[in-house]
Amino acid sequence: MELIDTHAHLDFSDFAPDLEAVIERATQAGVTRIISIGTGIESSRRAVALTERFPNLYAAIGVHPAHVAEEGLDFFPSLRELAQHPKVVAIGETGIDYYHVPEHLQREPSPTDYLQGETTSHLQRQLAETVWKSAQADAFRMQLDLAVELGLNVVIHQRSSWEDTLAVLRPYTGKVRGVFHCFGGSVEEATEISALGHLVSFTGIITFKNAEAVRIAAAAVPPDGYMVETDCPYLAPVPYRGKRAEPAHTRLVAEQIAAARGITLEEVAAATTRTAETFFRFGR
Ligand SMILES: [Zn+2]
Repeated sequence: MELIDTHAHLDFSDFAPDLEAVIERATQAGVTRIISIGTGIESSRRAVALTERFPNLYAAIGVHPAHVAEEGLDFFPSLRELAQHPKVVAIGETGIDYYHVPEHLQREPSPTDYLQGETTSHLQRQLAETVWKSAQADAFRMQLDLAVELGLNVVIHQRSSWEDTLAVLRPYTGKVRGVFHCFGGSVEEATEISALGHLVSFTGIITFKNAEAVRIAAAAVPPDGYMVETDCPYLAPVPYRGKRAEPAHTRLVAEQIAAARGITLEEVAAATTRTAETFFRFGR
């Protein structure tokens, strides 16, 4: 049995003390390949460097929507150059995130502000919000363009931004495929993703008690329409919830999907590994 953790943040400092042991435990659990995901240029560089240390590690490189502000929009040349590395298997993670609101946008002007003659702050805030949203869309589009240029697929982060994410993605239908990583949406959303030729992937969330909707979605997606991941160090599955997640936990995610679909763990492993081998550029 072979599983692929398609989304791990192994370049994060959480793993610095014991990365070799973490990867060894993954191998013991049948997780034979791991894709380390970049969240910015430096993080992507670190992910690529890790692939040179560990033969079963691969990298996806990209700028996460929450890091667009600090990264700026001139990351394109660095990303294109990094993508030449033979162990880069995808672009991402990229996408749109309206859940993590930056501090300068968190406070709405209060009625007192207006009483005190503060009439511009509301307009300023609206402008700042527009800039914040459009910069994310631009960064997402640039990374989709790069993926098309290089013939790679894309790892997509979508949070509280369903409509806008699809609006950016739709013109790329048929040119590039995306995986909606850490899928936590409804069956309807999963169906729309499949209809556009994209994939979903499931994390430890699927083992959470309150995640019945995710289990229903996992039962409904087509056999070749989903993959498994941990998004470690985040989202450790039950019984490790709240602790540091690691790639070995991919097996617990796959077990939960097997239960939801009424098939065996081995069948989930075979299906998701085949899907990942088609989606990612392993050794091509
Ligand atoms: Zn991630």
